[in-house]
Amino acid sequence: MSMHILNCFTCNARWPLKLKTGTVCTLVETNQGLVLVDTGLGLDDYAHPPGMVNLFRVIFSVPFERREAAANQVKSLGFRPEDVRHIVLTHMHFDHCGGLPDFPRARVHVHRREHEAFTGRMRRWTDLAYLRRHIAHKPEWVLYDTTGEKWYDFDAIHLPFEPEMWLVPLHGHTWGHCGVAVKQGDGWYFNAADAGAVYNDSAPAWLIRLVLGPHDGRLRQFMKAHPEVRMVTSHMELDWFEKEGSK
Ligand SMILES: [Zn+2]
Repeated sequence: MSMHILNCFTCNARWPLKLKTGTVCTLVETNQGLVLVDTGLGLDDYAHPPGMVNLFRVIFSVPFERREAAANQVKSLGFRPEDVRHIVLTHMHFDHCGGLPDFPRARVHVHRREHEAFTGRMRRWTDLAYLRRHIAHKPEWVLYDTTGEKWYDFDAIHLPFEPEMWLVPLHGHTWGHCGVAVKQGDGWYFNAADAGAVYNDSAPAWLIRLVLGPHDGRLRQFMKAHPEVRMVTSHMELDWFEKEGSK
């Protein structure tokens, strides 16, 4: 079974660092059909960009190319959007779940704390990146709680797919943010999403902690100790997608 790493939303930072980055979405062929981990923006976000997306386009340099929408990339790979039976979300910021309406029949798997934060009242400014319209089609939810199971020494939640997949709670960037690990051969692919900036050695630690939460140091140590784990974060540099993303 294979896996496809897609860049579903290019957003280039202008400050404090100039970085050309995409947004990692992962399409995994499983025993239960296609599983998409994060979606990037959706087709309607391109057609009718919400205010928050427009604000984001002012802050970041965003080419805003509709072909980057996951639904379009799934088609380019020769699948139909309805072949995507399940969507696993690391968290529900608009750049990670905006494509939900393009897969209306997919079951959506997410940590319960994240779903509650998204549907509850706003508690801090970053919650502005939760856009209710992304779930207006009322998807079928599969909500998970942390149970004490482990993936390596991380708390983890076993997902019901083959190849083996784990939801790895790394709360902080958002209330219920998680990484996602997928078994690959003798090792693992691990998307730590927005919990760390493990390939970025120029961002100051205080900024990483402020924006991404408390896990960056632990993730860096883990990556060093476990070469069999191919770790990525959500916003990898564009060069990486070209060189590594297709492997
Ligand atoms: Zn985020």
